[in-house]
Amino acid sequence: MIRPAAVAKESREVDRMIAFGPVPSRRLGRRLGINNIPPKVCTYSCVYCQLGRTRKMRIKRRAFYAPEEILEAVQDKVAKAREKGEVIDYLTFVADGEPTLDMNLGHEIGLLKPLGIKIAVITNASLIWQEAVRVALSKADWVSVKMDSTEEAIWRRTDRPYGTLKLPSILDGMLEFAKAYGGELATETMLVKGLNDSDELLKGIAGFLARLRPARAYLSVPTRPPAEKWAQPPTEEIITRAYHILHEKIDHVEYLIGYEGNAFAFTGDVEEDLLSISAVHPLREEAVVDFLAKAGADWSVIPNLIERRQLIETEYKGRKFYMRRVDRIHRE
Ligand code: SF4
Repeated sequence: MIRPAAVAKESREVDRMIAFGPVPSRRLGRRLGINNIPPKVCTYSCVYCQLGRTRKMRIKRRAFYAPEEILEAVQDKVAKAREKGEVIDYLTFVADGEPTLDMNLGHEIGLLKPLGIKIAVITNASLIWQEAVRVALSKADWVSVKMDSTEEAIWRRTDRPYGTLKLPSILDGMLEFAKAYGGELATETMLVKGLNDSDELLKGIAGFLARLRPARAYLSVPTRPPAEKWAQPPTEEIITRAYHILHEKIDHVEYLIGYEGNAFAFTGDVEEDLLSISAVHPLREEAVVDFLAKAGADWSVIPNLIERRQLIETEYKGRKFYMRRVDRIHRE
């Protein structure tokens, strides 16, 4: 079929919006992003959203793009990446809105499977109380759900959900999903200063995560301009506390507060490696001592990094920890 030039141009532009990358991702290696929702159609209007306030709030699922159009856009990007010898570890639904609002999500995942690349979905989980949404998500190999608070009032102030959504149904839906899901489940908690970062609220989240049992729980903070200027990251001390409170209940907790390299591949540059690792989780003083000994470096590296405002020393339960400064890093 010959497409008129104007239609072909418009179609190419939609293709570009639907599939992007591959880009490096801390959690998923090299991922090719799939944007199956027009900008910014969402069930939430989170105070920290880097896409600004949600103008088109909705909870009714519907079709947005034709599933074949999504397949075509992704196939095209995959072919181009393969031509260049670029690796793609995941095809990731990471929309400029909420991907489960797309009623064709499950069908699209099915269409993409024959490409032989693992599929991930990053969702706010607000619709997970619906069986059809759980069925669609269960087709993905990796799913990340949002968990900003287990307290209804705090959840409403942080995520500013569509009025009829109810937190208890969402939490139940998450538990139901986790029970049956055969893929890898992750959670993401965005900490906002003075909003959902108190010990009590964090203990609530930790308790819920202990029941949900995700493979990994990620902690984020706003590092890009948020929808509301006042939505700021907590201090490093509080982020360290949050890490420990969650870690007391579940094994794998990581920061997702910025990334500037590969934290799990050592470059041989002591400073770079220390900053990369401490951007993922706080390092105990003893771990830093060990690391420096192995690298043949001495302790002077640490005061230098602190002086240059790249590293910060914090304390938790009488022990010293080191973490990357939040205001010096940017979220992936
Ligand atoms: S769920 Fe995601 S896209 Fe929707 S408002 Fe929150 S941060 Fe933005």
